[in-house]
Amino acid sequence: MNEVKIQKERFANFLNSLTDSYRLYGPVRQADMVNFVPIRDTTEIDLSFQNTRLSSKSLFLPQSERMFEYSLDPARDDAHILKEVPRDYSPRAVIGVRPCDAKAFKLLDVNFDTQEYRDPWWVRARQSTTLVGLGCTTPCSTCFCTSVGGGPFDEEGLDVLLVDTGEAFLAKVLTEKGENLFDAAKTIEPADEELVQKALAIEQEAASKIVSRVDTSRLGELDTLALYEADFWEEVHFACINCGVCTYVCPTCWCFDIQDETHGRAGDRIRNWDSCMFPLFTLHASGHNPREEKLQRVRQRFMHKLKYYVDKYKNGVACVGCGRCVQYCPVNIDIRQVCRLMNAIAPPDRRPMHACNIAWVRSPS
Ligand code: SF4
Ligand code: SF4
Repeated sequence: MNEVKIQKERFANFLNSLTDSYRLYGPVRQADMVNFVPIRDTTEIDLSFQNTRLSSKSLFLPQSERMFEYSLDPARDDAHILKEVPRDYSPRAVIGVRPCDAKAFKLLDVNFDTQEYRDPWWVRARQSTTLVGLGCTTPCSTCFCTSVGGGPFDEEGLDVLLVDTGEAFLAKVLTEKGENLFDAAKTIEPADEELVQKALAIEQEAASKIVSRVDTSRLGELDTLALYEADFWEEVHFACINCGVCTYVCPTCWCFDIQDETHGRAGDRIRNWDSCMFPLFTLHASGHNPREEKLQRVRQRFMHKLKYYVDKYKNGVACVGCGRCVQYCPVNIDIRQVCRLMNAIAPPDRRPMHACNIAWVRSPS
């Protein structure tokens, strides 16, 4: 069972047949946004979105997450003892994840699930989740996944990939978790050759629609200090208002802050998303702030994604090309253009005199 046909008219039935075995999550339209939420009624799922504004990262790293709770009541035996907040880690299936977001989860594993450190909340959420992806048939003009090792039907990180062929989905079963999901479904119809060929043609057409490209292959060769000291950061950072939108919409940004919130004699230890674009992000207890200037913070974000990560992991850039930061930055700062500026910084002995004079404009696509 590697390829399965699911008629669209029976898709809700297919999802209903999973509910005895899985908690279902999926994209649901809420006002002018589509968000991933727990599904109570399977007809709520809306797979017509181009891409969600926020990535599905929050299913594994919530924007705000209660980790522990505690009591400050001296009359209680457990006063001042941190107790982990109970959470449901029973099997969960997330429907409709875009391939770029699934690739981003693999990328975030290098931070949350390593030999040195295993973040228990992240690891348990990942282990309990089966990811059912949805290939992109109409990529956004800001998507550049094919420049960073991905693609609109990339299978990396997914357990199942759905291809929308019009009247039916072709479901590619990619992992053991994916097989278990279809074992739980009540009825299965193997895909016929005609459907497989139709899906293949759709995939090829979608890849050709991604016209936005940037070369990320040479970033590892570039001189870190030359990039760090490049003049173009003056131009790049100028319009930034430090809103943090780029980091909040980004599926590969993983920074967080942990704070205790106390109400009377009870409290919670909460993990919240943080952003390297915020002035307080690196403020030391001494009052010293190594990234006090906006230029330093903007440079850090791009250097981390396009240079430091590249050099440390030798596994490409820390960006999956989803294009969200390009789309939602209120002042049109564009990571593709920053990458082009970085590419123009040659090693010192070959550095052009005016590498920074490349026009700082948003690309047409
Ligand atoms: S979204 Fe744009 S303006 Fe806001 S912090 Fe990011 S780069 Fe700066
Ligand atoms: S840096 Fe921008 S394009 Fe890259 S993954 Fe993050 S939001 Fe998407």
